[in-house]
Amino acid sequence: MANAVYPPYPPTLTQAEQEYLLTNLKDWSITHGLAVRPTSSYVTEDLDPARALATTAPVTLFPSLFPRSCFDQARAVSQAYSELYSAIAADEEWLGEIVKELLEIDDFIENLWKVHLAVKKEGYAQSLQLGLFRSDYMVHVSDRNSDSRLSVKQVEFNTIASSFGGLSSQVASLHRYLHSVGAYPEVTSSLINDASLQCSGSVPQLASGLAKAHQAYVESDKPNRPVCVLFLVQDVERNVFDQRHLEYALNTDHGVRTFRLPFSRVLEDTSLDQDRKLLYTPPSFSGKQWEVSVVYFRAGYAPTEYTSQRAWDARLHIERSAVIKCPGILTHLAGSKKVQQVLATPQSPHLARFLPDKLAADKLLATFAPIYPLDESEAGLEARKLATDPQTAQKYVLKPQREGGGNNIYRSEIPGFLQSLPKTKWPAYILMEMIEPPTQGNAIFRNGEVQSGEVICELGVYGACLWRDKVENEVVKGREVLENFEAGYLLRTKGAGSSEGGVAAGFGSVDSCCLLDL
Ligand code: ADP
Ligand code: MG
Repeated sequence: MANAVYPPYPPTLTQAEQEYLLTNLKDWSITHGLAVRPTSSYVTEDLDPARALATTAPVTLFPSLFPRSCFDQARAVSQAYSELYSAIAADEEWLGEIVKELLEIDDFIENLWKVHLAVKKEGYAQSLQLGLFRSDYMVHVSDRNSDSRLSVKQVEFNTIASSFGGLSSQVASLHRYLHSVGAYPEVTSSLINDASLQCSGSVPQLASGLAKAHQAYVESDKPNRPVCVLFLVQDVERNVFDQRHLEYALNTDHGVRTFRLPFSRVLEDTSLDQDRKLLYTPPSFSGKQWEVSVVYFRAGYAPTEYTSQRAWDARLHIERSAVIKCPGILTHLAGSKKVQQVLATPQSPHLARFLPDKLAADKLLATFAPIYPLDESEAGLEARKLATDPQTAQKYVLKPQREGGGNNIYRSEIPGFLQSLPKTKWPAYILMEMIEPPTQGNAIFRNGEVQSGEVICELGVYGACLWRDKVENEVVKGREVLENFEAGYLLRTKGAGSSEGGVAAGFGSVDSCCLLDL
């Protein structure tokens, strides 16, 4: 049934047509920074010792088809999702109760919470916070033959290091360019046309979010030194051009100075003054100092980045400082899968606490797929039955409290995995119903090769949100939202047979939407 949703797609190309399309795709992508550093399996280190080469990011040859109603639905809830997650991050007591359940079974969550407690003891030095969020969805096909047969269901909500905003603007432009030079045969013109191809404003919008936070810092803290935004990055980053697009937009469109600081160098290159302002001394500027307005985390979200106490000291150092964090540690914690589960467990009462507007809450509710705890609550015991039975487990995915891809356990592997784990550790995971999006045909260009076949898509909608926390008796209780706007979209596409979808992790590709009315 699910397979019959889309018309036959994409058109078959002759060899000459495919060569024309690929030549244009390869040249356009490098010219416009739709690029990544190559993996060492594609270009070995001895061939590129200076790490100077770049290659086309994994992309689809054609823009994938996407139901217009679903695209609109996902965009329509973007601001409400930012409202929800900023409210959660500003409700320390509620979040604390959730985190408490994970403290003894998840070291990473425990350590993040400890950073929060340490800063709380001394008092937070900055009440402004920035979220550059991304809510990810797949199309769900319901059995009911009604008008709303197709809808989006949320895969996850990202509150830290939501990536690909840089490349997604580019890939939408690439597909538009390929269309304009006739790389898509005439027969597709009823599907691929100027009205159906969707641009993504993610570069200007995410940059605008960062610029607004920078501006708010400058206005409220009145620095008397040069000011910069710091991109906190991993030591080895293949997806560097994605980040560079945001840096260059900040520089060119907003006149904001940016620097890239590897997470491992935080304690070497930054210091705090007596007001806990974060000062950055770039090694390349012999002693010159910048005051930092915003630290934008594109690192620090995975346990593997915290291999020593020094890394935790670095995280604490930033959190203590008066810089605006994107995100702060409570917002990072608000993005854990456990929070998503608590909201989305059937009959959960929690959504109303954060979104009293019933209409807005109902729209969000419609995007939730069922998610269960694996603890000893009634819902948890029910979920344990579903997850340990090989038959029912087929419909589920098991997720730990992790980000960045490659951590989930799918379908038939769930029962065996749980058996290998002491039962006391089970509550560290959540059990989510698999969304089964309709498949369609497309081709992915990756590492110089074209792979054609059935694919499935995941739509991400970015949101930028700037707010000011209200602190009562040293507890964060509520906030005032200063900015909240949708910030473009991302489409990621992977082979229909693959469970994971991470582009950087080597499973998927970046894509853009060709909307169609279904
Ligand atoms: P991560 O934080 O590692 O990105 P996700 O929850 O996004 O974790 O899961 C990774 C990938 O697994 C997703 O991009 C998606 O392709 C797939 N996935 C996760 N949950 C579901 C689901 N409920 N239904 C279908 N696919 C899913
Ligand atoms: Mg994800």
